Amino acid sequence: MMVKHDIKSLTHEELGQYLQGIGEKPFRATQIFEWLYQKRAQDFDAMLNLSVPLRQKLKEDFTFYNRQPAEKKGAADETQKFLFQLQDKEAIETVLIPTTDRVTVCASTQAGCKFGCRFCASGIGGWSRDLTTDEIVDQILYVHDEAEKHKHLSHIVFMGVGEPLDNYENLLKAIRIVNHPAGLNIAARRITISTCGLIPKIERLSKEGLQVELAISLHGFSNDSRNVLMPVNKKYPFEDLIKVCRLYTETTNRQITFEYILIKDVTCTDEAALKLGKALKGMLCKINLIPYNKVQEFGHEPPSKEDATRFKNKLKEFGVHATIRRPRGPDANAACGQLRHTSQIKK
Ligand code: SF4
Repeated sequence: MMVKHDIKSLTHEELGQYLQGIGEKPFRATQIFEWLYQKRAQDFDAMLNLSVPLRQKLKEDFTFYNRQPAEKKGAADETQKFLFQLQDKEAIETVLIPTTDRVTVCASTQAGCKFGCRFCASGIGGWSRDLTTDEIVDQILYVHDEAEKHKHLSHIVFMGVGEPLDNYENLLKAIRIVNHPAGLNIAARRITISTCGLIPKIERLSKEGLQVELAISLHGFSNDSRNVLMPVNKKYPFEDLIKVCRLYTETTNRQITFEYILIKDVTCTDEAALKLGKALKGMLCKINLIPYNKVQEFGHEPPSKEDATRFKNKLKEFGVHATIRRPRGPDANAACGQLRHTSQIKK
């Protein structure tokens, strides 16, 4: 038996090809996209400018889910977290983060994660499966509608549960859907992919011609130091990662953002700043310095304000632009799998 895909798993181009294949005009793809992503039809019967036989054919060929969260946390004007339970009972989370100048949805791409970064709860339970394109899109759609009750949803970051580039095809399809003018029409420059540094996928992404933002969790200044927080470094070592990042910026002419946790006496030292400055010198990049936030599982200390500022200034000597991001309390960690983890603990 042929497995039915969900209608929201198709890009505009794929939908056009499908329609041509069944003898329909490709412009119907735009009509269907508008029903799905702009007018928010809840089933095929609501798509009134399609013929009855076409609606019937779509029903036969596709599923049409409108996934709703099982759990919501947070007030409307603050960070809100949504826990979605999928058909196979896997749970994923999506976070809505309103700030003064932007409203961001933080979306998940996998149920669980293989990469086990030490600061992240998503990897604790291991990886279950990749999300389908429509599961990725549905989270964004739901949270988009929640956000629009108050403010316009302006940005998407793929930084929830899972490593986005480990689910490359479905991620890129989801991006093409939300980016399409007849889709959510969210500009690629407002979409960020956050990765732990999967080198072959970064190389591949550099050739896609997409204007998306790329953020790399660096969290180390050498192989040894990066191994402390990021087990993925054993497979994709620091020097090779820096090389591919340079290649990415040169090919795309787009800036990379590096995320770097400052831990007292570990990653926030003069030696670290020197090595990091040398590694990033001349690259089209910026670096977000994130003072370590104490969590139970991981026994390290945050740096002093002075040490963090000294680190930032040292990077400046190498022409590397850095900003210190203020920690937003343990709640903000939810952007990386905390909610799912908490809900699993409860069971
Ligand atoms: S930070 Fe990202 S890649 Fe690392 S364990 Fe968490 S979800 Fe996975």
